[in-house]
Amino acid sequence: MQQNVTHILDTPIEYIKGIGPAKGDAIRNDLQIFTLGDLLFTFPFRYVDRTKFHLIKDITIDNDLIQLKGTLLSLEKVKGKNNRARLNGVLKDGSGFIDLVWFQSVQWVEKALEVGKEYIVFGKPTVFSGKKNIAHPEMELVSEVEVQLNKTFEPVYSTTEKLDAKGFDNKARRKILRTIISGLNAQIIAENIPEEMRTKLKLISRLEAIQSIHFPTSENEKELAILRIKFEEIFYFQLRMLMSKVYRKVKYKAIGFEKIGDVFHQLYKSLPYELTNAQKRVIKEIRVDLAKVQQMNRLLQGDVGSGKTVVALLVMAIAIDNGLQACLMAPTEILAQQHYKGISELTVNLPIRVALLTGSIKGKARAEILAALEAGEIHIIIGTHALIEDTVVFKTLGLAVIDEQHRFGVAQRAGLWKKNKEFAPHVLVMTATPIPRTLAMTLYGDLDVSVIDELPPGRKEIKTLHQYESARPRVLEFMHKEIALGRQIYIVYPLIEESEKLDLKNLQDGYENLLQYFPQPHFQISVVHGRMKAADKDFEMARFVKGITQIMVATTVIEVGVNVPNASVMIIENTERFGLSQLHQLRGRVGRGAEQSYCILMTGNKLSKDGRERIKTMVDTNNGFIIAEADLRLRGPGDVQGTQQSGLLDFKLINVSTDRAIVETARHFAQQLLEDDLQLEKPQNLPVRNHLVTLRKKYKDWGRIS
Ligand code: ADP
Ligand code: MG
Repeated sequence: MQQNVTHILDTPIEYIKGIGPAKGDAIRNDLQIFTLGDLLFTFPFRYVDRTKFHLIKDITIDNDLIQLKGTLLSLEKVKGKNNRARLNGVLKDGSGFIDLVWFQSVQWVEKALEVGKEYIVFGKPTVFSGKKNIAHPEMELVSEVEVQLNKTFEPVYSTTEKLDAKGFDNKARRKILRTIISGLNAQIIAENIPEEMRTKLKLISRLEAIQSIHFPTSENEKELAILRIKFEEIFYFQLRMLMSKVYRKVKYKAIGFEKIGDVFHQLYKSLPYELTNAQKRVIKEIRVDLAKVQQMNRLLQGDVGSGKTVVALLVMAIAIDNGLQACLMAPTEILAQQHYKGISELTVNLPIRVALLTGSIKGKARAEILAALEAGEIHIIIGTHALIEDTVVFKTLGLAVIDEQHRFGVAQRAGLWKKNKEFAPHVLVMTATPIPRTLAMTLYGDLDVSVIDELPPGRKEIKTLHQYESARPRVLEFMHKEIALGRQIYIVYPLIEESEKLDLKNLQDGYENLLQYFPQPHFQISVVHGRMKAADKDFEMARFVKGITQIMVATTVIEVGVNVPNASVMIIENTERFGLSQLHQLRGRVGRGAEQSYCILMTGNKLSKDGRERIKTMVDTNNGFIIAEADLRLRGPGDVQGTQQSGLLDFKLINVSTDRAIVETARHFAQQLLEDDLQLEKPQNLPVRNHLVTLRKKYKDWGRIS
């Protein structure tokens, strides 16, 4: 039976009655719908309420699709421009008249319609030479519609013009779907949520949900169907995440770091500051993980400047105390260098060797480092993705720390674990992107999470100001004053791929303009953007880091991690074009020294309501989590920084920012299910087991989420 079941949903789209090869091709291309199952599980994006009729007199051009009920008064074929036939009709209801017009299939439409009959007319009104009309309305005889059942909500699917032209428009699609749905049963749409859970959550059955999501007969039915499908979607997502986490723990054995030794204690004692409580707490959390023989996979979240590096270093010290090596991977050469410098300073009096390995370290120097690493003489190696290369061999890698995780793909993370043949190194991923809890649960459901939610004491809060373009002269004056005080300034321009040329020109113009106000040789300005060669970029960054240049004009390439304590002013151009989380990251580049720092948000003189709200959020708070929440609310999850590349959020119905209750409930139930029956062996969990098998077949790229 199971065999047969799979078979029906797997029916290729062109074999469905009413579709055929030509339409099938177009459907595959335009909608990525390949099978009958895909068609069923591609849901309407909205519904038209066909229980309501519009009055002609109430029509405005703002109306979307509407439904009218009236008598077809006349129908007349006329010759339009370039001699093509056109069909003009007039419809009348109790309130007025409206023109109907057809440019295509004129003969056919003319034959199909009958003057004097009452029709239900459906379409989108427009205004042409001051008169209201509807082009190509759908027409149905009232007498016929009234005998049809269930005609209350009509599903609207996203489609393309090409598909409309090929005869697979919404109307045709609905007809095909009605036929398919009438033939469904609980074997074909097998239930995949255990009965008990379904009862507890008052979820309708999967079959009912599929039926009503396409053709609901009431608002309530529609809501119940959507809820059920959203739940299922996120439940299985979380379940798979949790399972891959458990599975990894079983599969990858690690070495338990049993002792805390001299390296850790000496380092701890020699720190130039007292750790914050939050830092102490996360170190404890990590220590517990490290002591286990299961591989640690932990995400360390902490706002910019919260002091993640020292936590990483202390944790690496524990690895060394246990006779193992550690590595720290950063996304850019500059960051790797900064980490190297900082960590070398903190460990100067310790009996350990720290090395740097980046792409630009070549020849003899490189060979020497590689040999020392393999011999186990290097305890901590810091580098870029160069660390993943096959030539990099450790004696015994016990811990891999990855900084600023969203720049690295999952594959790269995995590349590091494979560095140790006998057992898996523990992995600590650090990110400065504050992710709201719900999203973190969803995106990083396979990681354990630690949060540093406190900044080191004594920091001066960054002053954030909003300035309109008209205040530019004052901003320039302010820059002069700050530079005279010996400070450095960042000016950041937005750059997105779609408008890259124009954006680069903006940056270039901005730079040239600055040259007039800050003439050489008295002033020095660096320019850095992603289109430059890496070496040139690094050269300019280095000049700024050393204080040779006073102003750094850049795109967002500087957003991650760079630490120039003397830079105290961050000016952001076209602020309205940045996401909130990104603005927060950028702002975090200043406020690292003892001086009062400023972040100036420049905008055009006109701002949208949304733009004003976002700027107000930035001005009002320095708290990364509050900002991330606001970002999620204002822009939706797809835009929250760090999630774009994840490809993990292409859910059909669930929206992790607005459907939090569902996300959290699903996670809770997924967790409970696994706690109770990890192997899914209990008979009541068979539906789950079966569904996972189907999913696994469907998504062969299962591994991408682990
Ligand atoms: P991030 O979390 O953004 O990577 P860093 O690790 O670069 O932050 O730390 C930012 C700055 O704060 C560094 O200059 C570091 O020396 C300093 N720092 C870290 N922890 C403390 C602390 N507990 N007290 C004072 N300063 C600290
Ligand atoms: Mg950092």
